Amino acid sequence: MAGGIDALVVGAGVVGVTAALALQERGLQVMLLEQNSVAEGCSFGNAGLIAPGAFPLSAQYRLTDLPAAFLKSNSPAALDWISTLRLLPWGFLYAKATRWDKVRRDTDLLHDLCRDALRSYEVLLGSDLPQISRRGYLTIHLSSAELEKAIHVNSIRTSMGLTVRMLVGSEIAEFEPALKGVAAAGATLVDGAAHIIDPAAFVKCLANVFVRRGGSVSRDRVQALRSKKSGEVTVYGDLETYSPRTAVLTTGAHANQLLADCDHRIPLVAERGYHLELDVEPGFIGGPLAIPGLGVVLAPSARGARITGISHFGSPGLRARPELLLSALKRARKVLPSLRVRPGFEVWSGERPATPDSLPIIEQIPGYRSMFVSCGHGHLGVTLAAISARILANLVRGNSSNYAAQLSSQRFASN
Ligand SMILES: Cc1cc2nc3c(=O)[nH]c(=O)nc-3n(C[C@H](O)[C@H](O)[C@H](O)COP(=O)(O)OP(=O)(O)OC[C@H]3O[C@@H](n4cnc5c(N)ncnc54)[C@H](O)[C@@H]3O)c2cc1C
Repeated sequence: MAGGIDALVVGAGVVGVTAALALQERGLQVMLLEQNSVAEGCSFGNAGLIAPGAFPLSAQYRLTDLPAAFLKSNSPAALDWISTLRLLPWGFLYAKATRWDKVRRDTDLLHDLCRDALRSYEVLLGSDLPQISRRGYLTIHLSSAELEKAIHVNSIRTSMGLTVRMLVGSEIAEFEPALKGVAAAGATLVDGAAHIIDPAAFVKCLANVFVRRGGSVSRDRVQALRSKKSGEVTVYGDLETYSPRTAVLTTGAHANQLLADCDHRIPLVAERGYHLELDVEPGFIGGPLAIPGLGVVLAPSARGARITGISHFGSPGLRARPELLLSALKRARKVLPSLRVRPGFEVWSGERPATPDSLPIIEQIPGYRSMFVSCGHGHLGVTLAAISARILANLVRGNSSNYAAQLSSQRFASN
């Protein structure tokens, strides 16, 4: 039995690796367990954006908008129909999250968290922070209706303290030359946004820093958890049994599997997202480029660029449908005809851990004083990982915070 561990973090995606670093920073001896390799889950292939602000999904879609979005053949949203019944409780909480006062509060909280996001990485990593580009985040508005909507959204962003610039005409291609010749009604540039080029390499680099600072990473799949009233924890892996002082679950969209051992369940579904490598040169685009009218984001990658996107909802483990992204690529080619699949590459997909209000769940597992969970980061795992790690590590050390109070799963019981 492996002992002498202060904190065992299960799951080495971006949320787990940053949590391990933050616990280590507080003087704990930390072990990170991962069933595959570091960053092979959802954290492998995202768009790499560290957003300075964000809106919950409930601000964009009412529950009644969703069936039409799921049924439209050219929609970026899809439902795994086999999962429908199991998604109903989540859908009920999502409907509650679309109430205007709740949307307002969640938008405020998301913006507060995002505002601290980049700084939290800097504090956690110091001079070990891998390269992060800070070029801003561009969104293209293809029609005047989209532009009008963007003007309204931008006024909210400005009221939240963000700096936003509207680009028109030739200014768009001056900022992003790949857009030369694209007929756009306008574009929004959000200052303060940062991005990473290779999300998997970024998380692996963070894991290496964790090891250099004295942490250990092991490959094992956790099958079960047990905790006594005294607080003693036992974690059963395929290969070993662990007896840490504290266990932290950062198992992404699959968190409920292990939480079941603690008779705890959180409202979490999988929102599968996709990416595909494009046959373009490095530098084709300078930073992430959202085209909401097509439901895609183009993101720089180590090889050139990727097309990313799609919100495919279902139970964790839902079957992937690569054709959803291929059809998005077809739509994107109407705007940027040079976009082609890089030979030898196939569609990748990963399960975003999605809560009904687009906010993560960070909490001590009710009734278990030595067990914690941090998951549900949805579209914002890279953005919110370091600040979530700080909130979690403080909680483990017995210091709750205003953030921790708002991010407990109790919020779903109380409103
Ligand atoms: C297409 C796409 C684009 C995105 N773009 C962005 C973006 O631009 N900016 C942003 O902030 N976010 C973005 N995201 C979201 C972001 O990628 C996720 O929120 C984030 O990766 C979630 O991280 P995680 O660590 O919680 O989960 P994961 O990365 O899935 O990590 C969980 C880990 O736990 C492990 N695990 C599970 N069960 C066990 C077990 N029993 N034993 C041991 N290990 C276990 C898994 O193997 C996995 O490695 C995007 C996502 C997608 C899909």
